[in-house]
Amino acid sequence: MTSQSLAQRDTIILTIEDTSAPLSASTGKNQRSMSLIDFVRQMDGQPTHCTDDGFPLISIDGEIYCTVEYADGLIGGQKAVGVAQGEHFIEILLANGYLIPLTCPCCGGQLHLRDMQLPELRALLIGRSIEGFRHGEWVGEGVPPKRHPVFALQFSGSEERQERTIEVALESVRGIRKANASPAPH
Ligand SMILES: [Zn+2]
Repeated sequence: MTSQSLAQRDTIILTIEDTSAPLSASTGKNQRSMSLIDFVRQMDGQPTHCTDDGFPLISIDGEIYCTVEYADGLIGGQKAVGVAQGEHFIEILLANGYLIPLTCPCCGGQLHLRDMQLPELRALLIGRSIEGFRHGEWVGEGVPPKRHPVFALQFSGSEERQERTIEVALESVRGIRKANASPAPH
């Protein structure tokens, strides 16, 4: 089991080191956020990154958020209690009742893991806690390569960090939500 990696093998992820998020013990609520005006000024039509922690910024319902502050506030430190196929995406259900859809870091669509299907993901992730978040850049194989930021969930465990980290598209952060009142137990 531990010899398998959750990493996408058909993509190149340049993970930036030392960017693990604060755990949920720190709420992140007191961190400064970039003002919208600053954001627009720096943005110039391109996605950019939080000046506090370097994580990519996303727009959710018209508001600009730092991905790690947003994700940490909702699911940081939470234990995975279920992994299930949702309507569109495989979703991780967390102990506090929130879920996060897993989207492909290359295209934002469904994960196309080569060596991890739902049962393996379920067996590997359930019971682990989200101990931090990481970010990096997806680099395509074309010339010139397409590039875009990616987000990653790092789970607790004793394996190499990369083997318990799932890289996802920023869409996954946008998709974090409260699960239905009666989530199916797994
Ligand atoms: Zn893809």
